[in-house]
Amino acid sequence: MGVRRSFKFLLRPTGKQVAALTKCLDDHRELYNAALEHRRTAYRKARVSVRYGDQSAELKHIRADDPDGQGRWSFSFRQATLRRLDKAFGGFFDRLKAGRTPGFPRFKGRGRFNTVEWPKDGDGCRWDSQPHHRTATYVRLQGIGHVRVHQHRRVLGTVKTISVKREGARWFVVLSCDDVPAGTLPVTGAVAGIDLGVASLATTSDGQHLANPRHLAVTAGRLAAAQRDLARKKRGSRRRRKAVARVAALHAKVRRQRLDSAHKAALTLVRDHDMIAHETLKVTNMTKRAAPRPDGDGGHLPNGAAAKSGLNRSILDAGWGVFLTILSHKAESAGRQLIAVNPANTSRTCAECGHCAKDNRTTQAVFRCTACGHEAHADVNAAINILRAGLALRDAAQAA
Ligand SMILES: [Zn+2]
Repeated sequence: MGVRRSFKFLLRPTGKQVAALTKCLDDHRELYNAALEHRRTAYRKARVSVRYGDQSAELKHIRADDPDGQGRWSFSFRQATLRRLDKAFGGFFDRLKAGRTPGFPRFKGRGRFNTVEWPKDGDGCRWDSQPHHRTATYVRLQGIGHVRVHQHRRVLGTVKTISVKREGARWFVVLSCDDVPAGTLPVTGAVAGIDLGVASLATTSDGQHLANPRHLAVTAGRLAAAQRDLARKKRGSRRRRKAVARVAALHAKVRRQRLDSAHKAALTLVRDHDMIAHETLKVTNMTKRAAPRPDGDGGHLPNGAAAKSGLNRSILDAGWGVFLTILSHKAESAGRQLIAVNPANTSRTCAECGHCAKDNRTTQAVFRCTACGHEAHADVNAAINILRAGLALRDAAQAA
């Protein structure tokens, strides 16, 4: 059993195609407005409702009368625009019946009509119209031509409808596909926020601590020791060459361990949740914090603790970026939603009462609200705030 999903790609139209696409939107806007005018007049003068079927039947005549305008676009393509108007009227009458006073559907001004839909792949349009082209993907749009597509990911399932959308100066194609299988996981009904941390790679809003990187910290400690050892070796000596090899091997081990734990944590998250909210990583902060102080000879200052914690820090920081990359790949192929939120105040705001203060966070691990007394694991408290911000973003996107 597949699901329906959309795929959106940037179009790379030629100048001529841009002109044709613009003309296409204008023609459909005109059709929309003309059909709306027809309905308005009938309703205002005679309280008669003109139906979709009546208007669709007239398309034939309109086409014959206007071969260079409406005549350029396929029948089903123009029907889709009439259906869109029908939907607007449906909503209007629904609200009227519900006892509200809705505004009558409005005429679409220039710039207020930015989407057209072809209701069936193969009818006036063709996805992947040049399948044997070696490097590029094209979509053929009748009356416009083969338009180049920046296809940044694979399309899954069966293409049902093809839409073209104008966003500012850019054009997009949106494919609505049926029967999308892939690694699409069953809907769980669960959502999570995650806080990226040091003690655990990620802590979820329901209190799970994922990928405790203790083994990583052990390797990091050995790596720091190996680097201090390397700094003491004489340049050009055989012992130094050996020490260099040891540092490189430990670096590789850290990388492997990091990847392994990131894969495991990401898999758990994606399997158990439909939506995952995480904080946006601030790259500048990370590098500033992570910078170990070099002594100019490839090693670190003899201040062991500071150097070691700096190194640990940098290893963990790099781990967050890797983890989020892996998580986003897994989420995409599983059909899960991943939402990045602004991390500001997520760690100092009380998830219970919303009170935001620096003093709320007593230690690295403990959160205690100075206003309401709520106590929680600091990372769990932050993860709940991140989840809340993610849900707000999701709802806002759905409402738009
Ligand atoms: Zn509180």
